Amino acid sequence: MSNTKRKVAIIGAGLAGTTVGLGLVNAGFDVTIYSDRDRTSLRNDVPPTGTAVYFGKSLEYDAEVIENLYEIGNSTGMSVRIFSGVGETRTPVIEFDRPFNYTAQAVDTRLRADDRLGRFLARGGKFVVCAVTPEDLDAIAADADLTLVATGKGGLSSLFPVDADRTVYAEPQRHLLLATFKELDRADHQFAYRSSDGGRHNWFTIHADFGETFFGPYLHKDLGATRAFIGFAKPGSPWIDLFKSVTDTQTARDAVVKLFETYFPEDVALIEQLEPLHEDPHSWFLGAVTPTVRRAVATTRNGHPVAAIGDAAVSFDPIGGQGAQNAVVQSALLIRALKEHKGKITYEWLQDQFNRHWDHRAEAAAEVTRLFLGDAKYAMHAELLFPAAAVDPKIGSAFFDFLSEPKPLLGIQSREEVNKLISDLAGEPAENVLARFKAPEQFARSEI
Ligand SMILES: Cc1cc2nc3c(=O)[nH]c(=O)nc-3n(C[C@H](O)[C@H](O)[C@H](O)COP(=O)(O)OP(=O)(O)OC[C@H]3O[C@@H](n4cnc5c(N)ncnc54)[C@H](O)[C@@H]3O)c2cc1C
Repeated sequence: MSNTKRKVAIIGAGLAGTTVGLGLVNAGFDVTIYSDRDRTSLRNDVPPTGTAVYFGKSLEYDAEVIENLYEIGNSTGMSVRIFSGVGETRTPVIEFDRPFNYTAQAVDTRLRADDRLGRFLARGGKFVVCAVTPEDLDAIAADADLTLVATGKGGLSSLFPVDADRTVYAEPQRHLLLATFKELDRADHQFAYRSSDGGRHNWFTIHADFGETFFGPYLHKDLGATRAFIGFAKPGSPWIDLFKSVTDTQTARDAVVKLFETYFPEDVALIEQLEPLHEDPHSWFLGAVTPTVRRAVATTRNGHPVAAIGDAAVSFDPIGGQGAQNAVVQSALLIRALKEHKGKITYEWLQDQFNRHWDHRAEAAAEVTRLFLGDAKYAMHAELLFPAAAVDPKIGSAFFDFLSEPKPLLGIQSREEVNKLISDLAGEPAENVLARFKAPEQFARSEI
């Protein structure tokens, strides 16, 4: 049998399902996507799964499946500020604003998936609206050469047991608030007090005890240039109650303003101008992710192998921006392998593909997430890299390279290895770089 006749069934039409679906239709496979929602509902009746920023390298994997359609939502760097304490004891700890060594792109997952689905249908892909049950899956898999489960963190992911050896956390590490706002007038000018590249840099504003916030350019599916905010509250943080007060687009905006007013008042004059996207009642959500690695190949009741892809296989805390990137890298690698593979697609072959993906990207993506979560394993990295990034621009930019290409982190584990990274980038001993670090006395304020 030639590859062109092979039948593929994909369950779920999020970013993972539509990416691998389009890639396989392009490669000549006979592909059916099963989705619990029709195309209009996928686009209009649910929130985006996440902000889903592609940091650098994942754009190249994505380009193996679809051309880059988006000019809005791109960002070029990150402004980082870290505080500790509250009220009288509030203290600025570290600040740096650094360009990325790449472009990052934040596009509404509903738009990305819809654009993929449109091309998939135009190229002969089949789309069936059906909430697939485990019984359905058995019948679907019996009739296909390959069945992929792309149903996200919930859905059918429970068919794939948690891999205890690869899963570090048993519960969510952050409570999340996502909200999207209208773009500000003259953004470049307004953001200049924090960023050399104005509104094209994201903000990562951190409270050492309570949590982190991300704020950056975003392409909304209908409203175009907008700004995405994500709040990450640590367990026990007072931010959790603030997030819980959110019930709609307006209260989401009010909670974000309150957060900045209380913890990051230098920015509040700018943040107060944010206007909610009332046009999209799904432009906000509350959530929490337990970072989980599953055994990504399972068998159905009658012994047919099925493989998980995207969040159904590995879910990440969003603080390291790895989930969507992991989904497109996994899709691209699988498509490449399927184009080469002429034999039967067996359980063992699928397991081998997942293990290759784990080695290539997913393990490192999980470790980078731990670095950004401030996991105890990476306390020494943070202790050295943050002040070094504040001293030397090259180190700040290199720190964000981990979001694009996480794998080098696996080889930078000991204090000597972190110091070597700093020395190599700075061209002088790490101790000299760190000796020049001075905590800022205060941070510049938005004067608007
Ligand atoms: C706040 C937040 C911020 C994020 N930021 C980033 C970031 O900056 N960078 C990054 O790379 N990632 C980020 N992510 C992660 C990213 O959004 C996800 O990893 C990615 O969108 C997951 O796509 P998916 O297709 O695997 O799952 P989903 O988007 O969940 O899609 C699954 C689809 O399957 C359907 N489905 C479920 N069950 C069934 C069934 N039984 N039958 C048929 N259909 C079914 C669902 O309705 C859904 O349409 C973020 C996540 C969050 C929560």
